[in-house]
Amino acid sequence: MSWTKELYKRAPYSLKRLMANVEAYRRLRVRHGGDYQENYRTIDLKAMLAGGSEELQLQLLNDLLAHIRKAIPYYQEANLPETLTSLEELARIPLMTKDILRVEGERLISQKPEIGLWQGWTSGSTGSSLHYHRDKRSMHYEYALYERMYEYASGEKDAKRVRLSNVVISGPDAGPPYWFSLLPLRQLQCSTDHIEPETAALYLKAMQEYGAVLGTGYTYSWYRLAEGVLGLKDRHSPLKSIVTDSEGITLEQKKIVEEAFSCPVYQTYGTSEFGIVALQCDRGHYHLLDRCYVEVVDSEGHVLPEGEDGELVITDLRSLDAPFLRYRSGDRGILRKSGCACGWNGPYLEEVTGRVEDYLVTSKGRRMTRVNRIVKGVEGIKAMQIVQDRPGQMHVRLIPGEDFRPEEMDKMKENGVLFMGELDFSWEVVDDLERTPSGKVRYLIRRF
Ligand SMILES: [Zn+2]
Repeated sequence: MSWTKELYKRAPYSLKRLMANVEAYRRLRVRHGGDYQENYRTIDLKAMLAGGSEELQLQLLNDLLAHIRKAIPYYQEANLPETLTSLEELARIPLMTKDILRVEGERLISQKPEIGLWQGWTSGSTGSSLHYHRDKRSMHYEYALYERMYEYASGEKDAKRVRLSNVVISGPDAGPPYWFSLLPLRQLQCSTDHIEPETAALYLKAMQEYGAVLGTGYTYSWYRLAEGVLGLKDRHSPLKSIVTDSEGITLEQKKIVEEAFSCPVYQTYGTSEFGIVALQCDRGHYHLLDRCYVEVVDSEGHVLPEGEDGELVITDLRSLDAPFLRYRSGDRGILRKSGCACGWNGPYLEEVTGRVEDYLVTSKGRRMTRVNRIVKGVEGIKAMQIVQDRPGQMHVRLIPGEDFRPEEMDKMKENGVLFMGELDFSWEVVDDLERTPSGKVRYLIRRF
């Protein structure tokens, strides 16, 4: 962990606010670099949602393949086709998996990236650490796309926003404020760790005073806050819409958020490896954005016809120097080419399964989302599962990788204490993980 992160962790509220503002300024400069302005200028979200992006996507795909053949060592031996004449021909190229990415990491990036690479980390849905790179060129497009979505949803340019996400504002037992303003981003950054029925009125008042028009951040946290807000007598919401960017909530839960804040909620679908893929309409379908090409495959990896349920395979069309080419996402869905009754005529995912947010309960009875925080920096785990039998306790079952060291679990405990406070932590090595009747491993099992 870098010294700034260590300092931030121990800093009092006012210093945290200052450091977060400096970081926000730095991030804004990075986000608005490269082709951001050009992307922002040219993106027409309405046209994109109306469909008809195939020609552009095919051109981007051929540019991507041409670049990969030259610049990515892993693919130099793969005998990639010269030029594709249709998007469907992509099926001729082998699939990429998380395991291949883990093993071949360095051979899957360009040694001379044109724009630059960003290093990311995710615990995936199995608790197994995955380090990866993204091409900043693709991220500049994604940031511009988000900006256009925020405008579309709020009806305003540069709308003041309120964000619920896991920026640490104060310790688990601290009192309010549970937020601070990030001036460069015109954003009220709120803690997700202090949302409960008793604090809902304070959160809502902070949003009103800040003049926020747009809500962003973690979907489940918005739902938690909505539950509290619905219990208030005075619940005047300043928001015109909420656009979320993490694991989803059900359509029933979405309705509760819409009722609490008297505005529409747009969920998004994406993953940390390649960013946003789709935007949810009022019918609950995820409409594809043009930056990725999506296929659905069966367990053997064969492309399925439209309308059949399978694993989503995703190609990031602009990640040239760190390609995600036919990447098995681990998420499942059903693809339709057009015909959603919402009025957006483009292709969409009828259902995306396996993406509902889960939570742990602290000794004080708070629900903490983003459970995978406990795996941050912990290496050597092949797969794991958390079992919680009572508040403030957790037991980890794990299947170790070859490089696993028991000391790694001290890090996991430390991570747990950081966001849950008092914690009874234990772990064991197992041969297999408990599965649901359909054979799926559940990352978190709560038994109360
Ligand atoms: Zn729709």
